[in-house]
Amino acid sequence: MRRVSVLGATGSIGQNTLDLIARRPGDFQVVALTGGHNVENLAEQARRFGAEIAVTAHESRYGALKAALAGSGIEVAAGAGALTEAAARPADWVMSAIVGAAGLAPGLAALGQGATLALANKESLVTAGALIKAEARRHADKGARILPVDSEHSAVFQALTGEDMAAVERIVITASGGAFRDWPLEKLAEATLEQALTHPNWEMGARITIDSASMFNKALEVIETKEFFEVDPEQIEVLIHPQSLVHALVGFRDGALMAHLGAPDMRHAIGYALNWPERAELPVERLDLAAIGGLEFRPPDEARYPALRLAREVMEAGGLAGAVFNAAKEAALDAFMGREIGFLDMARVVEEVLARGVPGLDGATMTLDKVAAADQMGRRAAREIIEAGR
Ligand code: NDP
Ligand code: MG
Repeated sequence: MRRVSVLGATGSIGQNTLDLIARRPGDFQVVALTGGHNVENLAEQARRFGAEIAVTAHESRYGALKAALAGSGIEVAAGAGALTEAAARPADWVMSAIVGAAGLAPGLAALGQGATLALANKESLVTAGALIKAEARRHADKGARILPVDSEHSAVFQALTGEDMAAVERIVITASGGAFRDWPLEKLAEATLEQALTHPNWEMGARITIDSASMFNKALEVIETKEFFEVDPEQIEVLIHPQSLVHALVGFRDGALMAHLGAPDMRHAIGYALNWPERAELPVERLDLAAIGGLEFRPPDEARYPALRLAREVMEAGGLAGAVFNAAKEAALDAFMGREIGFLDMARVVEEVLARGVPGLDGATMTLDKVAAADQMGRRAAREIIEAGR
């Protein structure tokens, strides 16, 4: 019986994770489930899986969660601190599927108690790669390790099994191109929230769906690739692949390319991390390549996707640039979702924030406090720029 916790249990990745866990009754014991506003769903899942504790990130939702779990014997807590404490409860495997920089501290806590951290929260590696990797190393003797869940990174991880990193020449991650890949460039400025919320291939949370349309998601993933696989930025390529069937490719020094293919279903990457190092049967579609017929690839148009250029700048700057970048992106995304700014303004705001400069890292030591300060700086600067433009 493996003890598992799911952080962000009410979200798209969290629900897919629980779907896989539910199919194997008797194999898993659920320790902690966490959510945000959706306490009804959180309570329902906590009862269904017999969780030890259910935590909402928002103190204002405590009463509702407590009421929904009355008589169940399940512990209830609320707030960011409680969330991190829940992640620190002994568990063998913890899914990190909170959206945004809020996922960092709970992920660190999970590693601190020696869990395998299944990392969907790419923001952890983007904002604080050095910190989270150091925490995994520090507690490796207790079993702490990070496994990728982002589909591209899971694909790369699988393609690298048994390989020597020194033989890797390049890593290619694919992108569908998002909702606007075929739109004329001049029309993008008028793209609405509703239009940005339709993804051609993947069912995902609202924020990552919009980030896919703007390619900020891919920008985060390029940085995530650099941090996770510790390759040079020049070794990472992005390829537009409208079908989203090839998730990533690894190129080796002998010219071989190992590609990972699968249906666009996150249960694939989640299931791989859940069962690693074994492969278990998963309820995902089997690809019929003869029926699919053809796969298309093309280079990304940098004029259409400035986020990719900004990711290169961030990798070049290093240190706390990732935290500033992600925070500015989150603030710009909030403003777009609140209809304060237009679609193209998101990249403009983030670019202006980065142009103001990012704090250096003295002593080459990254701490959670320094990351939080850089995050605050990025958010504040983004808000100033957004408000100045109104
Ligand atoms: P969702 O928006 O669907 O879910 C996010 C989860 O985080 C929900 O449980 C939400 O609670 C919770 N949450 C939101 N804000 C906070 C907060 N401030 N503190 C604590 N919890 C919070 O997101 P996804 O499942 O789509 O994505 C989760 C992560 O996985 C992201 O980092 C994303 O980039 C990554 N990812 C997602 C993929 C996908 O297919 N969806 C693919 C690859 C990576 P509530 O809803 O109750 O408010
Ligand atoms: Mg991805």
